[in-house]
Amino acid sequence: MNGLVKDLTGLIGESKVLFQPEDLLAYANDATHYFRTQPPDAVVLPTSTEEISRVLSYAYEHYIPVTPRGAGSGLSGGATPVKGGIVVDTKRMNRIVEIDRANMTATVEGGVVLQNFHRAVEKMGLFYPPDPQSMSVCTMGANVATRAGGPRGVKYGTTGNYVTGLEVVLPDGSVIKTGGKFVKQSVGYDLTRLMTGSEGTLGIITKVHVRLLTLPPETRTMVVVCESLDQAAEIVSEIIARGAVPSMMEFMIKLAVTVMNTFVFPPLPTDGEAYLLMEIDGTAAQVEHDAETIKAICRDMKAREIREVEDERVARVYWKARSAMYPFIMTIFKRAITEDITVPRSRIPDLVRAIQEIAASVGIMIGLAGHAGDGNMHPTVLQSEINEEIAAKAKQAIDMLVRRGLELGGTISGEHGIGIHKQEYLDWELDQVQIDLMKRIKAAFDPRGIMNPGKIWVEGGQQ
Ligand SMILES: Cc1cc2nc3c(=O)[nH]c(=O)nc-3n(C[C@H](O)[C@H](O)[C@H](O)COP(=O)(O)OP(=O)(O)OC[C@H]3O[C@@H](n4cnc5c(N)ncnc54)[C@H](O)[C@@H]3O)c2cc1C
Repeated sequence: MNGLVKDLTGLIGESKVLFQPEDLLAYANDATHYFRTQPPDAVVLPTSTEEISRVLSYAYEHYIPVTPRGAGSGLSGGATPVKGGIVVDTKRMNRIVEIDRANMTATVEGGVVLQNFHRAVEKMGLFYPPDPQSMSVCTMGANVATRAGGPRGVKYGTTGNYVTGLEVVLPDGSVIKTGGKFVKQSVGYDLTRLMTGSEGTLGIITKVHVRLLTLPPETRTMVVVCESLDQAAEIVSEIIARGAVPSMMEFMIKLAVTVMNTFVFPPLPTDGEAYLLMEIDGTAAQVEHDAETIKAICRDMKAREIREVEDERVARVYWKARSAMYPFIMTIFKRAITEDITVPRSRIPDLVRAIQEIAASVGIMIGLAGHAGDGNMHPTVLQSEINEEIAAKAKQAIDMLVRRGLELGGTISGEHGIGIHKQEYLDWELDQVQIDLMKRIKAAFDPRGIMNPGKIWVEGGQQ
């Protein structure tokens, strides 16, 4: 046992510290394992804010890097401990502290798994819409840290639209509480908003207050089969423009549906080139009205087929399969690099065309699925082999995708964050004045640069 491990054991107890090489290896990266791996020197599994505070005070005093971690499902390398040091795994901070029906709010610890929270509130007839597709594992503190979204973003927005307050342990171990259970506040700078999307670089989120909605009484799922990717993209744009906004609207190419069909029954149709999987929700009358409007739009725009999924259980199977798309793809390809370019919704047809052109011109396969309704597409660069030539093509394709997304008035990341994966593109989107301002904010929170160093910008936020 080395000095660091002895000290950590003294601070929070032996059962909460991991230091064996095989344990450390499990914390060497996140879902982007192909970008960079670096095992930490130790992992802690605290069970209280107080313990996290003790660990951070110690790390701060000794200038030791600290990387916060939830489930490690991130797609930007954010939880990869690139400078070693301590990983703080929040998974044992998994209590739902309160669900307050009267105020329509809830308070959870940072390590609560999102799906467990969904189930708990839905049992009470309440609704927490944010739904990153990793919800069976991802944690709510990390959802805040990455400003995660999902298919329901099209109608309900993403995590940032629901967080009303936080408890955060700052790098020096002090604890702050921002916002609260109230739904509005106008007191000084909005630190809740600042922490949302901070990717673990400003502090560790130990509690999250969120607002809740009432669970919509009815849902209906539809599959629209389209002749071409362009047609599907045009239909998405038109549906949004006409205001019949579905609660979920996912765009998929034939390859994605073919992959899904190896897992679902009855199979989805595969005679189109692109597909829209949609859910409409609300009261029975609203659902009926929106379904008719959407069907009329699809008919007017000559979609090949519009299929309503009558059986609720089958609909759930389709949505589950959609959530598992990335793991499905990983059973077929050796490497799949998923981007999360987001464009203004009216530009989705242009983005879809650009993705096809880039794939053809570079000579690499780019799969396409995405939360089309909010302009967030996930072009996924697929590699059957791993070698230098293919890696170079993948890099060229990603550069071109990012550039085109920005030219269309979009952003390089709609929901995954910058981490290490997108650092080189940061100044393609933000000007130097903004980047310098962000670095000064980072320095104010973390003058010793211990919190998740090496993320967002290459040099770890030091000026
Ligand atoms: C199959 C699959 C599907 C996905 N689908 C979506 C999707 O639809 N939408 C979407 O937005 N993302 C999606 N993701 C990405 C990922 O799941 C989200 O970014 C999620 O929010 C990460 O949660 P996590 O607990 O795994 O965090 P981690 O990967 O462990 O960490 C993510 C980042 O948050 C920081 N962090 C973690 N916990 C805390 C904390 N308590 N306080 C401060 N910082 C913290 C970490 O340092 C890191 O920078 C998907 C990933 C996979 C593998």
